Amino acid sequence: MTGNAPSPQWGELPIRDELRGKSPYGAPQLDVPVRLNTNENPYPLPEILVRRIAERVAEAARTLNRYPDRDAVELRTELARYLTRTAGHPVAAAGVWAANGSNEVIQQLLQAFAGPGRTAIGFEPSYSMHALIARGTGTDWISGPRNDDFTIDVEAAVRAIGERRPDVVFICSPNNPTGTAVDSATVLALYEAAQAAKPSMVVVDEAYVEFSHRPSLLPLIEGRRNLVVSRTMSKAFGAAGLRLGYLAADPAVVDAVQLVRLPYHLSAVTQATALAALEHTDTLLGYVEQLKAERDRLVTELRAIGCEVTDSDANFVQFGRFDSAQRAWRGLLDRGVLVRDNGVPGWLRVTAGTPAENDAFLDAVRELMKENA
Ligand SMILES: *Cc1c(COP(=O)(O)O)cnc(C)c1O
Repeated sequence: MTGNAPSPQWGELPIRDELRGKSPYGAPQLDVPVRLNTNENPYPLPEILVRRIAERVAEAARTLNRYPDRDAVELRTELARYLTRTAGHPVAAAGVWAANGSNEVIQQLLQAFAGPGRTAIGFEPSYSMHALIARGTGTDWISGPRNDDFTIDVEAAVRAIGERRPDVVFICSPNNPTGTAVDSATVLALYEAAQAAKPSMVVVDEAYVEFSHRPSLLPLIEGRRNLVVSRTMSKAFGAAGLRLGYLAADPAVVDAVQLVRLPYHLSAVTQATALAALEHTDTLLGYVEQLKAERDRLVTELRAIGCEVTDSDANFVQFGRFDSAQRAWRGLLDRGVLVRDNGVPGWLRVTAGTPAENDAFLDAVRELMKENA
């Protein structure tokens, strides 16, 4: 594991003005006993799936002299089958698109629908990559408001969309880093506002939806051509290393991203691995129930310790409030526990790990609270 890179050497390079003085995205990858900072699934893939991946990758290796299926048809068919089975809405392969992580899906959406001279809005604090990918694609970023309890301030959001007329609206549900789920009435209100203002694309980032108490917002794409739901295999499927994200939307949206995707962007090895994982969906999602129970236990125990906790629909919990989140972060690290400081003043975020990891985390918080009492 490496720490953060040394200070960048691009000072002498003719880099784009808007990138000057900026830092790359990156949670510290520190070598500590308990790492609960990047919302990964703590359970390694089961051995039976590891063997199936080896088989399918070996099969793919026999034709690696050829480019992969550019349209990833088999994979999109299986992703559509998974969504149809779990999200309460029939989805066809033509309405699904896959890329290297949902970050690439989001990048392709911004390349197709935003970019120089256009704007995107998100409601912060939220997933920082939405703003960073906007910047990388030359899209101007608008930071929209939230209420004190981290729900979206619908009235203010509708007003901001009407006044600023963004080309892309991001809604993260459940929201990272707060864990807050968004209800369908809020999505519909923002969608209507976005259509009246422009019309613009609305992207619902459901990276954590499998952990939610609420059903997926995916059925809302029916009859709404400018609504996109993005998903990932990085969290619930426990396959962050695979790099596989996908979207569901009207097939017209899938056609639009063809204009900006790199040819053969999804390697044959990635496609084979993802297909193997999708054969074992039920086993992988079995861990989700365990993690939801651990998430709920973290909420209950943190409150019993005396922390403030934001209600969570994800596999992580936002807790506080600290006079200095940075000092609390350091205090936990000194006790061997790495959590995430997302820069939300007073708050930290912890990922639900294994029961033993969560116990170690809770012990560290108890000590920290005693020390500061
Ligand atoms: C982790 C995360 C993603 C997933 O990114 P991948 O590129 O699929 O690993 C997307 N959106 C949010 C809000 C996330 O927290």
